[in-house]
Formats: sequence, C-alpha cells, structure tokens
Amino acid sequence: MRFEDLRLNEPLLRAVRTAGYEDTTPIQAKAIPHVLAGKDVLGCAQTGTGKTAAFALPILQRLGRGPMRRNGPGRRIRTLVLAPTRELAQQIHDSFLTYGQHTDIRQTVIFGGVNQNPQARALRAGADILVATPGRLLDLIGQGLISLRHVEILVLDEADRMLDMGFLPDIRRVLAQVPKERQTLLFSATMPAPIRKLADSILHEAVPVQVAPRVSAPAPTVEHSIYHVEKPGKTKLLTSLLDHTPYSRVLVFTRTKHGADKVVKQLGRAGMDAAALHGNKSQGARTRALAAFRSARTPVLVATDIAARGLDVEDISHVINYDLPHEPETYVHRIGRTGRAGESGRAVSFCTGDDRDNLRAIERLLRTQLQKAEDPPGYTSPRITPTLPSARDKGAAHKSGRPHNGCRNRTQSGPGSGDPARSNRSRRKTKRRRARLPVGS
Ligand code: AMP
Repeated sequence: MRFEDLRLNEPLLRAVRTAGYEDTTPIQAKAIPHVLAGKDVLGCAQTGTGKTAAFALPILQRLGRGPMRRNGPGRRIRTLVLAPTRELAQQIHDSFLTYGQHTDIRQTVIFGGVNQNPQARALRAGADILVATPGRLLDLIGQGLISLRHVEILVLDEADRMLDMGFLPDIRRVLAQVPKERQTLLFSATMPAPIRKLADSILHEAVPVQVAPRVSAPAPTVEHSIYHVEKPGKTKLLTSLLDHTPYSRVLVFTRTKHGADKVVKQLGRAGMDAAALHGNKSQGARTRALAAFRSARTPVLVATDIAARGLDVEDISHVINYDLPHEPETYVHRIGRTGRAGESGRAVSFCTGDDRDNLRAIERLLRTQLQKAEDPPGYTSPRITPTLPSARDKGAAHKSGRPHNGCRNRTQSGPGSGDPARSNRSRRKTKRRRARLPVGS
C-alpha cells in the first residue's frame, strides 16, 4: 500500500518521501487507519517492522488537527510515549522529529542516566509530544516539572520488555496521572498473559493489529554462516574477518559486558577502531558510541544483548555472534539488525565446542543447518571439528537447500564476498601506522 492511500496530510507525506519510503510496511497499512480514527490499538509487532511510523504518523496528524498552543509553558503534553530503554526512547523521538519535520508540532525526550537540567529546560520550552522512560518521567513528575493532565494519546512501546525490566509498577503510577478519557496504543513483540492483562485493563475496545512475529523468521535477505572455533582462536578469527571483509557497519555480540570490553581492547591492539555498548557504560559513553556507529566513524560496535535492544541503525552489513546466544530467539533478534528493509545482510557466528547445543537449538528454530564458512585468508588459529550431523542426516528443509522460513544459507564464502561495501583496510592501515603496530599484530 502507498502512504498516499492512507489519507495522511501533505506535510507528513513529504516527510515520508524525504525518508525514502515508497510503500507502507504491513503494520503501517494495518494500524494507521485505526489510529487516525481515534481507536485504541493493541499492536503485536517488533522493532524493525516499521511500527514507530505506524503510530507516529497518525499521532502527528491527529495532534495537527487540535488547537495548537504557542511555545512556552502554555504548550501542553498531548501525547506521551513510554519506552523501556534510553536508546529506544531516543530513537522514537528521532522518528517523531523526522516525520514531523514539516509540522509545527514540538517534541522532546527524557530518560535517566544523564543530567536532568537540559531535559527540564526543554520541557519548560513546551512540548506536544513527550517520549520518556518510566523512571525519569516519574522523577520529573515528582518534582512538579511535568503534568500529564492534558494527555490525549498514550503509547506504550515494547510493553513486554517494559514488563521484563520490572516497570509494571511504574507504568501503573504513570497511568494514574493520565486522563481516563484518552486514546491508548500498546505495542509489544510478544503477547504473554501479563501483557494481555495489562492491555485488558487499559485499552478500550482495542483493535488488534498483528504482523507476523519475526522471531522465528529472519529476513530472507540475511545470509547465515558459522565458524567452528575454540575460545582462544575467536579474537584472531574476528580480526582476520574484519581485515578481509568489506563492510559498512559491523555489530558484534558478546554474552557479557566484560567480554564486550575485552573484544574492544583486543581489536584496538590489532589497530582496529571499535566501541563497546553495554549496561555498565555511562549514558554519555553509550550515546557517543552509538553516534559514532551511526555515522560509521567507528563502524564496529561490540554490544551485549540488553544494550542492543531496540537498536535501529541503518546499513549494518554484518552481525557477528562472537558468542552464540543461549536462547535461539536471541539469535533471531540479533541478526534482525542486519538485512533490514530489503537490504542484504550477513550473520556470522562463532561456535565453540561448548556451544553445540546452542547451535542445534538455533538450527531447530530456523529449520535449517547453518553452513560452515571458509577461513578468511591467512587465518591459522586452532579450530575444532564440528561433530554436528552431516548434511545428509538432516531433514527435508536442509535437503531442499533452503530453509522453510526463506532465509538463505551461506554455502561457501566467508563474509568477505558479496556486497561492494566500503573496505576498512586502508583506514586501519593508517591507524596502525599511527599506533606503530605491525600489520597482523
Ligand atoms: P521501526 O520498526 O519503527 O524501528 O522501523 C525500522 C526501520 O524501518 C527504520 O529504520 C525505519 O526508518 C524504516 N522504515 C519504517 N517504515 C518504512 C517504510 N514504509 N519503508 C521503508 N523503511 C521503513
């Protein structure tokens, strides 16, 4: 469906065109008409499906219809969006800014872990839309800096994650502050019983809107490959891959915060620029790491799963599972960061002897066998021989050579082949020279 068919106004259509969107995503086609009509919506969709625009565009249109107040304290918060993490809150705010760039609707974002004064100043200047994480919101309400008495639209985004993170009591406290007479939109990637209960208690005759969960179906544009490697050989393999792989941005996942820091240090020693993103980093460091990754100034980001939640960065050519996740669904979440919006992407995983059960669980979920990739040139670290069932032992999904869910296997080459993405070798060489490190150290 085209955005023009959704009866969105011209300033919004212009912003959508500037963003380069041609057609709506399924969640947008399904949700936008209901949100525009003022209905409550219970949306089952994950990040990456285009759900932010699915609520942001119609909200901007609805707010544009109401009487607009002048700037300053007279400007009241008419839409409140609650999000679980600082990064997601910032991303939602950025989306509102993008989609609302040709309107005079004002928006601001607040989250914890940073000095509150700039946020308080922005609030005093007046905002129609406030994107917030629950803790900082309650803090500022407690200080009398925010009133939610005029909220007309309430959005709970990634509600399942907010519950996972223990925000339910905070959400209830926020709900007590917003008018009962309002439009409520609740989005969640999964719909376990506590979310349904919450939805039942806060939504009124909600329209259910669902798009196929991505969790068991990675994008068909992602190619998967696996390296069987023992722990001591992982860093060498990673540096080898990065050295011989043209990439735009690489997101490397480790299981622990300490592991992320260690990988960044080891890459640094090899003359490669990388940043870490995890929960022990200060908010300033997280924001800087993300900004440098987004702009591709530091095109390698090493992250833990919690820190990478909801991360939406365009043009990530590779996701590397330095550590395989214990949960197979996490594999799909991780690789969902690449291969977005029809672009091709590569998912590369390191599998140690201890990871075999994890690998089998992932393959069961994907209903395919991840194919072993070729060594990057010059890689000589000790490797393990996989003792997984041979290709012939596998079921019909493998025999067909394609998984049921449409994801393609890598059969031969490492991540170095394929996309004509920018090579980082020259940049690293310069860096090495600066750091006086021998090439290959
Ligand atoms: P979201 O699920 O809201 O985090 O969106 C995921 C990504 O899809 C973001 O980078 C959006 O800019 C992008 N996106 C959203 N809607 C569309 C669309 N209709 N066409 C192409 N890309 C889109």
